[in-house]
Amino acid sequence: MSHPARLLLVDDDEMNRDVLSRRLLRKGYEVELAEDGQQALDLVASRPFDLVLLDNMMPGLSGIEVLRRIRRTEAGNELPIIMVTAQHESENVVAALQLGANDYITKPVDFAVALARIESRLALSAASRELRRARDLYRLASRASEDGLWDWDVNSGRVYYSPRWKSLLGFSEGEIGDRVEEWFSRVHPGDLPAVRAEVASLLEGRGGSLEIRYRIRHKDGRYRWMENRGGVSRDTAGRALRMAGCQTDITARQTIDAETSLPNRLWLEEELRAAAERPSDPGPAGPERPGLLLCELDGFDQIDEALPDGRVGHLMAAVAERLRGVLTSMPEAASLAACRPADRQFAVLLRQAPSVDYARVLAGRIQSALNEPFSLDGETLFATVGVGIALAGNSTGDPLLRDASAALRYALEHGKGRIEVFQKELREHDRQTLRLESDLRQAVERREFEVHYQPKVNLESGEIAGFEALARWNRPGTGMVMPDLFIATAERTGLIVALGTQVLERACSDTVELRRSYPHLTVSVNVSGRQFAEPDLVEQVARCLASTGLPPCALHLEITESMVMEAPENARIVLHRLRDMGVELKLDDFGTGYSSLSYLHRFPFDVLKIDRSFVARLTEGAQGIEILRAIVDMARSLHMTVVAEGVETQEQAILLKALGCPYAQGYLFSPPVGLACLRELLPARFPVAATALTNTRC
Ligand code: C2E
Ligand code: MG
Ligand code: MG
Repeated sequence: MSHPARLLLVDDDEMNRDVLSRRLLRKGYEVELAEDGQQALDLVASRPFDLVLLDNMMPGLSGIEVLRRIRRTEAGNELPIIMVTAQHESENVVAALQLGANDYITKPVDFAVALARIESRLALSAASRELRRARDLYRLASRASEDGLWDWDVNSGRVYYSPRWKSLLGFSEGEIGDRVEEWFSRVHPGDLPAVRAEVASLLEGRGGSLEIRYRIRHKDGRYRWMENRGGVSRDTAGRALRMAGCQTDITARQTIDAETSLPNRLWLEEELRAAAERPSDPGPAGPERPGLLLCELDGFDQIDEALPDGRVGHLMAAVAERLRGVLTSMPEAASLAACRPADRQFAVLLRQAPSVDYARVLAGRIQSALNEPFSLDGETLFATVGVGIALAGNSTGDPLLRDASAALRYALEHGKGRIEVFQKELREHDRQTLRLESDLRQAVERREFEVHYQPKVNLESGEIAGFEALARWNRPGTGMVMPDLFIATAERTGLIVALGTQVLERACSDTVELRRSYPHLTVSVNVSGRQFAEPDLVEQVARCLASTGLPPCALHLEITESMVMEAPENARIVLHRLRDMGVELKLDDFGTGYSSLSYLHRFPFDVLKIDRSFVARLTEGAQGIEILRAIVDMARSLHMTVVAEGVETQEQAILLKALGCPYAQGYLFSPPVGLACLRELLPARFPVAATALTNTRC
């Protein structure tokens, strides 16, 4: 105690007061005197005392009565009272102790005994005052803290949960008891084993401190993310006595995507789980049924690869901003929430989706907003977005996220800028895709692919100048499968690399055989994007030429402009290496992309294959002819040869020839055919302007 203790000495005997007070003053105490009960009560009411020495036998108010009255306002641990009684007053001593006296001394007062008792009482009340202060401080601190405090008495098994601990879970003070199960029973089943193990290991002395994260169920039924830090106090034998710590709500930290500031997948999964558990509410607008809209930029991988490091994050942030803009512009904005469930995906949760049409309209608005060009570091980027939609009522009962993902997958696989609504058939499509993938894997291992050849005709002479090798899959139990049903899947799974090698080897060795009779023949082989990106493509081609004995000039490789545009610098290097080897390079499907011929001329292409869409427009009017004329003229001025694809009519062939296009392939001459059939076709002539030969022979 910093100041000297202030004592109140109450005694009607002046002599007693005088002697005792002088000795106490000498011991350093402050002493005030009261000569009767009333004076004592007035003094206690007027200023604070640390202890009262109270004579029992007094005229007027007795000591017992004064004690009773003081105790009405002052608790025993706040103002200790020592009764001073005569030797024979033992029943008064008992009564006084029952009324809240803290101790007693007898007359005549033995000063040493009195002093010892005064000191021990003062020490006790100081300790209890300190304890009270610490408790108050703790209570104040815990009230001010954002963390929920807990204190677990290991022996009794009781846990003190601070009011904040309870309110973090949505409960008020009286709603949560003091058992440890109040805590554990609310922890997410997926996280509970880890939580129990951590706590047990700490109790058993294996860990230094507790630091765990888990989900815990809130009163509203949703799970919140908590971080819990704590420690243990032990007895001298090392046994745990108490474990205490604090629980912090980290839901926001755990469920927000840093790049876009949108909620992440954890948030979405929890929202969907809570929505699925909630009984559907048949409100005025019909039952509440949640819906989910999942979006992904078409060709995300290519965009990601094409952008410099880290830039795709900026793009995603810009996408998120536009998405927010669309949602806030909707009248039902309050029931819509955007989030980012995966690096490449965005989602809109519709808490109340009125109809499929509504979801489609929303998807359309999102697409329009994202179709506007993006500006990244001065570069302009155009994007389209695929959208998958699933509504609770329409789905198969599977979680919405799975249904929406299936719809999105379908949308992305079937073109750009598509909107697909989940239907049960999509599940079947997913199953088929899975089966296709595994069958395709086997097909590569078992070499189930065949190569068909489509002749390329010299329009001047009518002779077959060469042919294009096109893969066919002889799928057991199904028959011949066309490339549009398996090339995309082979590309996605990477199987195209092995498949492409098989086609290349077959095509080269077949051509070697055919060239024995027709030495001028050349073969064109398609190279996929994935193959083109293989670091050893050039070596592979060289190995194949060496092993089959085909001269490099007899091999043409067909490459589409999108492959070149994905990584132009790399493409230029690979193309030059192939060209240096003597292999001829064809730009396939020209006109289906966006690049200009003058740009593509920077790459060493020898041949331009005009896409069949241009050929089809030839006979539709003057404009079609003019476009083709411009392409042929420009190719010629850039010293490139031209091959027209998809020629189906004599009229088209005549026009192409007149425009100066030297080569053509198409159903007019022959569809792709097997090796045996090709062998029969080779001696034939296909005079343009005369009646075309049909392929009835094959
Ligand atoms: P592509 O390289 O542009 O091949 C031309 C496609 O047009 C072939 O389709 C061919 O059968 C078809 N076609 C030919 N003449 C006509 C015609 O007069 N009218 C119409 N409507 N179509 C005609 P196919 O064989 O179904 O191949 C489709 C695509 O699959 C190919 O387009 C090529 O990109 C790819 N592909 C085929 N085989 C392979 C391969 O071995 N490797 C790679 N990477 N891709 C391949
Ligand atoms: Mg081709
Ligand atoms: Mg083509």
